[in-house]
Amino acid sequence: MKLTKLETFRLKPRWLLVRLETDDGFVGWGEPVVEGRAGTTEACVHELWPYLLGQDPRRVEQLWQTLYRGGFYRGGPVLTSAISGIDQALWDIKGKAMGAPIYDMLGGTVRDKMQVYSWIDSDTAEIAVKSAKEKQALGFRSIKMLGIDATGWVSDSETITTLLEKVQAVRDATGPNFGIAIDFHGRAHKSSARTLLRELEPLKPLFIEEPVLVENEEVFAELHRFSAIPLATGERCYTRWGFKGLLEKGCVDILQPDLSHAGGISEVRRIAAMAETYDVAIAPHCPLGPVALAACLQVDFASINAFMQEQSIGMAYNKGQEIDSYLSNPEVFVYQDGFVRLPDGPGLGVTVDEEKVRRASEPDLAWKNPVLHLEDGCITEW
Ligand SMILES: [Mg+2]
Repeated sequence: MKLTKLETFRLKPRWLLVRLETDDGFVGWGEPVVEGRAGTTEACVHELWPYLLGQDPRRVEQLWQTLYRGGFYRGGPVLTSAISGIDQALWDIKGKAMGAPIYDMLGGTVRDKMQVYSWIDSDTAEIAVKSAKEKQALGFRSIKMLGIDATGWVSDSETITTLLEKVQAVRDATGPNFGIAIDFHGRAHKSSARTLLRELEPLKPLFIEEPVLVENEEVFAELHRFSAIPLATGERCYTRWGFKGLLEKGCVDILQPDLSHAGGISEVRRIAAMAETYDVAIAPHCPLGPVALAACLQVDFASINAFMQEQSIGMAYNKGQEIDSYLSNPEVFVYQDGFVRLPDGPGLGVTVDEEKVRRASEPDLAWKNPVLHLEDGCITEW
C-alpha cells in the first residue's frame, strides 16, 4: 500500500481538512489547523508531502518520526498541527485497511461511553444561566464558560465581582452537582489569578483552565500550591516535550492536549500515558471540527485517565455549520445524558461526505480571532 495523493480543504467556520489517498483506493481524513493560521498550516501540510509520497501509510510511527525529526527544526504550533492532521489521516487509513476502529489498535476500549461537556454563552449572568439550563436540559452534566473579559496586568474589582456573580448564578440555577468549568483563556496575570482562584473556591468549579498563560509555568506551580481548584491547561502545548515540564513541576491536574495541535493520535496517546504516571487526567481540547473530535474520541476510549471531552456543537464560532454538517453518518455525535457512545466504524469512525466537502471548500477562507485592546489602547490577550 502506497500513499499517492494529498488534498486539503478549507471549510467554514475555521476548519481545514486533509485527505490522503492510497494506490489501492483507501482514503483517510485528518484535521490539521491552527485557528487563524489555516493558510500557513495548509502550506506546511503540502511541504511535508514529499516525505509521504509513495510511503506505506500503515507505518504510522515511522512516518510520524520522519515528519517530526526529519526536518531538523521541530515543534511549534504550525509544524505540529500539520503533523497532527496527517497522523489522524494515516490512522484512519490503517483502521480502514484493517477493518478496525483506531481504539482497537491502541489496545481496545477502557470505557463504554465518554462524557462530553458543552460551552455556554456567558456575556451576562442572565445569559449564562439561560444557556447553562438549556445545556442541562439536553442532558449535559458539565459546561464550560469564559472566565473574564479582556483584562490588564491587575484586574479591577468589577472584573472579579462580575465573574463571581455569573458563576454563583449558574451554580444556583443548576444545583450543587453540576460541573462548572471556567476558562480564563490566559487573560489573567499572576496577581488577579490568585484573587480569582481564592474567591471562586467556595463555588467548587470543576476546573479552571489557563488561569494564566502556560508559558508562565512557574506561576502555574505557585497557583497550584495556593488553590485547591483543579487547574487545566495544554491547548497551546505541542508534543510530549511541551507537556513534560508541567508534569515534572506537578502544577497541573488536567492536561488538555489538542488532537489537531499536539501531534495527533500517536502523540496524544503518549501524552495521556505520561500524564497517567503523574496521576493527572486528560480532557482533550476540541473546539474544532468533526475529524478532530473523532480523533479525540479514539484516544479517549482507549485511555484510562481521559475524564471528559470538549466538543464544539453549539459553540459561537459554528453558527451555520455544525460538526455533523460534513458527515454522512452524523449519528456518531448524538449525545445521550451527557455522554457520547462508542463510535464503531473502522478508522476514525466518521464518514466524511466528500461531495459536500468539495462543494463547501473555500480556498481563501481566512478566519481570524478578534484582537482585544484595553481602554488605554494596549493590546491584551484574546
Ligand atoms: Mg481554552
